[in-house]
Order: sequence, then structure tokens, then C-alpha cells
Amino acid sequence: MNPGYVKLDLFCRGLRIDKSCELEKDGTPILRTRGGLGSGLEMILPEDVHVNAPVVEHFCLKSPYALHKENGRYVLRKAGDFVFEVTLPKEPKFYSQKASSGKQMSRIGVMQGTYLAIYPTKVCGFWTMKPRQNCRFCSVGLTLGETEELEKTVEEVVETVQAARKEVGITFVHFNTGFYEGTSLDELEPYIRAVKERTGLLIGVQCPPSKSLEKYDRLKELGVNHVSFCLEIFDPRRFKEVCPGKHQYLGQKAYMDAMEYCVDLFGKGKVSGEIIAGLERTESTIEAIEHFASKGIVSNVCVFRPCVGTDLEKENPPRTDDMVPIFMRVYEVCLENNIPIGIAPNILVSIIMLPDEGKYLTERRYLWKRVRLGILKALFRTYFKLKLLRV
Ligand code: SF4
Repeated sequence: MNPGYVKLDLFCRGLRIDKSCELEKDGTPILRTRGGLGSGLEMILPEDVHVNAPVVEHFCLKSPYALHKENGRYVLRKAGDFVFEVTLPKEPKFYSQKASSGKQMSRIGVMQGTYLAIYPTKVCGFWTMKPRQNCRFCSVGLTLGETEELEKTVEEVVETVQAARKEVGITFVHFNTGFYEGTSLDELEPYIRAVKERTGLLIGVQCPPSKSLEKYDRLKELGVNHVSFCLEIFDPRRFKEVCPGKHQYLGQKAYMDAMEYCVDLFGKGKVSGEIIAGLERTESTIEAIEHFASKGIVSNVCVFRPCVGTDLEKENPPRTDDMVPIFMRVYEVCLENNIPIGIAPNILVSIIMLPDEGKYLTERRYLWKRVRLGILKALFRTYFKLKLLRV
């Protein structure tokens, strides 16, 4: 019952909230935005492991996990037994602050662990096609205009980033967009430029792959630090079933080409392939992870969450036992292929298992490789602090 295993088990089994809890007073509000994975309760487990535990989906009702408030502290119990004490991050004050335009900042960007996540552009084109061609697990078309602003100006985004930096010390801003017939990166450019110039923070970008690969050179010039690609599913047959728009308008090859181009451009460890575990066979997910690692790409794997209102809301999440070998392998292949992980300062993600958190699931220690990672991390932290001083 280490915090890494419990994080994974919570993703697969969900969490019930005991009536002793006072979440409105003690926790961060549940804000479902973007693809939907942030639909749960933000908690911090021991060893600073952040988790967004599912609480509203159908399977949570049967979860063996329950959160209790006992003597003023929050306690996680499994089938009634004490697991450990947990912390609920307080709602950041900037959530209720308004941008100069009058829009509430929680409707512009949200914290997902210790970083700020922003979907700055219009609704994904797959949601507006007739018939809809959206990815079956996705909730972008359900949340934009509801829990988050349909449109966000560059100024509103910069003001929200500055407020988050001032209050909670974020180091990383993550932008993602939907599909816009090849213009996703162009639409993001003004936001990236302004946030980089005015804050100096680390920036991650997640967009559908561009077939004009030179656009990634432009991203590098703008100072983007990390790029990721939501392939979601490695098995071509399942990819077509679950992601019909991506299959028809992009194809898996476009993802692979863009990822390989970006690894050459940005370097090992700065490019991720996003995969959803639980929507294809475990062996297929592991095949994806090993393939990515052989190219220097990190796998960011999330556990399938059947979010309320999505096309797959009635499905079940995967079993924890089937997920353990996947996340163990994510960690192992990164170390075996000398792909740097966990280097950037203060990026603790709640909605997925971080590659580094696979260490909780494997008995392999990789002592010298971990020492090397520790040195890299210390060097990068110093370099980043010095760079921020210049902004
Ligand atoms: S590409 Fe798929 S996952 Fe991404 S926003 Fe569009 S429908 Fe959602």
C-alpha cells in the first residue's frame, strides 16, 4: 500500500466521500475541464504524490476506498481499514479572482497537481462535425462554455498564469487544443509567445500532429520546453473505433512522424506520447511504451476514466492488476533507454501516473541511473531559477 500503488488503485476503483468530510470548506472544488480527467477530487498522498481521484463516475459507488474527516484530519480508508492520512489542497485564491476582462480565472486555467492547465482555443473540430467524430472518451465538447470559458484571450491567459505563479509558485503551464484542420499550432502561438515573454515559465504544448513539421521548429524558437501527442491507442483497430476523427483526418502515422521529428529537435525526454490504458489489451499498451522508448519518447499513460456524459460513460475502468505491469514498464524503459524523467522542477501531476511514479511498482532499483537523474535535476533546477530572475 505505497502511495504510488494507491494512486493507481484510486484511478481504477474510485473514491467514496464519507459524510464527515467538509470538502467545500477544506478542498479544491471539482472542476471538470478539458478532456475530462480532472473530474475528481484533488488529494495529496504521502511522499507528495498528487492524485485526482474519481468521485462522480458510476464505478465510484462500489469503491472500497472512502475519505473520512477524523479529528480535523483527512484519512483514507480501504474497506474500513486505515490506509494513510491525506492532504486536501486548498482552493487557490486566484480561482475566484477576475481577469481585467471580468472573467473568473478558474474558468480560464485549472491546477492539475502543481501545474496550470489551459485549453485556450475553441471547441475541437471533431465535436462540431456532423455526425460527431470526437474521441469517445473525451468531454471537451461538454465542458467548454459550461465549466470553462468558451473563448479566452491572450491577456486573460497571461493574467491567470501570473496570478497562479504569484500565489502557488507554478513552474509549468500546459496548453492543449483540439483539432482545427492543421491550424492548432498557429492558434496557440500568440498564447505561447505572451506567456513565455512575460513570465519565463516552462511551457508544454499538446496538439494534434501537424503534417507541416517545420512548425515544430517554430515552437522551439518560441521557447516551448515540452511537446506531447495524444495518440491514445496503439492498436490500429481500436484506434479507429475509439478515435474516429483522429483515424480519418490524421492517422497514426502522422503522430509517429511528428513525435520522431520532435525528439530530434527537442531532445530525449522532452517529447511524450500520450496513451490511455484500459481501452486496448495490456500487451498492446506495453508494446506502445516500448516502441516510444526505443525512439527516446516518454510515455504519458493515463488510466481510462469513463467520465459522466461521454460516449463511454457506462464502461468500466480497467483492473488495477492489469495496470501494474504497464506503469512498471513505463518507468523501467525510461531508465533502460537513458531517457531523463522527473527533471523539471515542481511538476507533480494529479491526473496521470507520472513515469517516475512507476518506481513504486517495480523491485528494480537502477541505483546509478537514479543518481545521474538526481544530478541532472539539481542542475536544471539551478539553471531554471537563474533564468526566471532575468524575466
Ligand atoms: S482530438 Fe479527441 S481527445 Fe482531443 S479534444 Fe478532440 S475529441 Fe477530444
